[in-house]
Amino acid sequence: MLRGEVIAIGDELTTGQRLDTNSQWLSERLTELGVQVVFHTTVADDLIANIEVFRAASQRADVVVATGGLGPTADDLTREAMAAAAGVELVEDATALAHIENLFRSRGRGMPERNRLQAQFPRGAKPIPNPHGTAPGIEQTIGGCRLFALPGVPAEMFEMWRASVAPAIAMLQDAPRVIRHRRIKCFGVGESQLEAMLPDVIARGREPQVGITVSGATITLRITAAGANEAACFDAMAPTEKLIREQLGLLVFGEEEDELEQVVLRLLAERNQKLAVGECATNGTLSAWLAAADHSGRFLSGQFRRGEGAMREIPAVEGAAEILRERSGADYALGVGEVCEDQVVVALAHPEGVRSKSFPTLGHPSLLVPRAAKQALNMLRLHLIVGSGQQADGSEEMQSR
Ligand code: ATP
Repeated sequence: MLRGEVIAIGDELTTGQRLDTNSQWLSERLTELGVQVVFHTTVADDLIANIEVFRAASQRADVVVATGGLGPTADDLTREAMAAAAGVELVEDATALAHIENLFRSRGRGMPERNRLQAQFPRGAKPIPNPHGTAPGIEQTIGGCRLFALPGVPAEMFEMWRASVAPAIAMLQDAPRVIRHRRIKCFGVGESQLEAMLPDVIARGREPQVGITVSGATITLRITAAGANEAACFDAMAPTEKLIREQLGLLVFGEEEDELEQVVLRLLAERNQKLAVGECATNGTLSAWLAAADHSGRFLSGQFRRGEGAMREIPAVEGAAEILRERSGADYALGVGEVCEDQVVVALAHPEGVRSKSFPTLGHPSLLVPRAAKQALNMLRLHLIVGSGQQADGSEEMQSR
């Protein structure tokens, strides 16, 4: 597998003024092409530092993609650094110069002398065409390493990647090789508990590889496979996905971009049923999520109350959910109570009665709201799938009426 490095250049990045989104984008693209990105380097507009970075990268990677520092100003040092790292001089490229001159002419202006610099390339390197900007990119070989330098402006970088760099990197591979991912979304247990349920799956070095990440109590399992083409990758992933789904059962609520509210709204749409929501601890979040994702009129109304002190006990939250269900005319009403002694009560009023559950609210306060909102959505999801009774995690639940 080719080893890759991404270099992002600019004071804006190293001072923290701008987030380096180019490296993220390039890394995703390189990975899709089957290049294993092993280094990200971010470097300021400093010539010595840039030379060191290009030198090190050319020694430890097979493919290097750099972004930024190709402009005409004094702080644009990429071309100079690449030449110095290779131990060669800069020479002018007549075709690139003609392109830059034409570009200025087409805008009714003469080319400023300093833009001439953008037609200079390390000896032996070649320009990468930039149809919509002045600065061409640079393709250069240092030892056994192929380097591609692209502008920092994202739109220009994307276009040049697609037209020139991606095809050139694909040609470097012995055999065509791509990498694809599948994401399985889970909710209902903690990360370590879920990991313990999949002892052999989340092991380093396993093929296909499975990684685990958590965001706002939603756990994502990411399956990664490499193969000759996309179909081969998905074929290789299928048995792993099956195994995960078998082991986790109802803890799996979706895949790829799915969120719990979308899944719940889909289930309601399939049944032609509607939902109303009354919430305290979640500050209107549940209603906002549902309203944003509701494309088929499943979400009837959201009520948001806070600080009244009444919605702490199970009977109060259950009663409020039932009243809301009756008044709104919805098939289901979810009630989220207030936080009390590190617990929050979630109640679900349904056509046959009402059920409720207390959830702990321990952990960082910023997690409380999304977690409680997801607990409520998950309670309805499980009710819609399995009806009253069992919970996916086998936990006890109040079934009041
Ligand atoms: P130019 O011809 O515009 O000078 P350049 O190659 O010199 O191109 P930079 O000057 O480094 O590029 O960056 C131009 C702009 O592109 C920045 O102001 C910023 O908006 C954006 N940019 C640069 N690098 C990145 C990055 N790593 N991630 C996201 N945006 C970036």
